[in-house]
Amino acid sequence: MQPTPENIIALYHQRGNEIYGDEKVTQSEHAIQAAVLAEREGANDEQILAALLHDIGHILAEDKLPASNEENLDDGHENRAYQWLCQHFGKAVADPIRLHVAAKRYLCTVTPEYSQTLSPTSYKSYLDQGGPMSEEELQQFRQEPFFEQAIALRRWDDQAKDAEMVIPGIAHFVERLQAGLDKSSCR
Ligand code: FE
Repeated sequence: MQPTPENIIALYHQRGNEIYGDEKVTQSEHAIQAAVLAEREGANDEQILAALLHDIGHILAEDKLPASNEENLDDGHENRAYQWLCQHFGKAVADPIRLHVAAKRYLCTVTPEYSQTLSPTSYKSYLDQGGPMSEEELQQFRQEPFFEQAIALRRWDDQAKDAEMVIPGIAHFVERLQAGLDKSSCR
């Protein structure tokens, strides 16, 4: 079933009140902060939506996420979320989200100082997600069509953990969500 902006917003109201990992913000606050940071930098509509929806894998009920297929038995949450996003939003939204975990590994590898800016939880998950990239992984990552957008998304993600930031409600994004849904699917 095609979701509406109202469905998506309702999901964040129902499930977004959990604290984001060990951080000081909820899942919903984290999502909104990332999107507001993207807006402030003058990012395009797709990048703002990608920032808002980047952790929707944590918000979507498990039964709404397609099961991993046999080729991808080791898929993380971002890959399964990607399959859902791909059905409802374009590649410019879905691809940076698929890559946002890899983007952290990329940034930590090419900019060692960057790893020191991560929160302890984020640093631990970086190690669990594979730690530094090999030369081959770096090359592959740079060739991704949405490489730049994934890096930008990663930076907003990392900054979107500010307990003091003044943010709008998620309904602020209703028109952008509608526009993204209207463009629809990765194909
Ligand atoms: Fe995040």
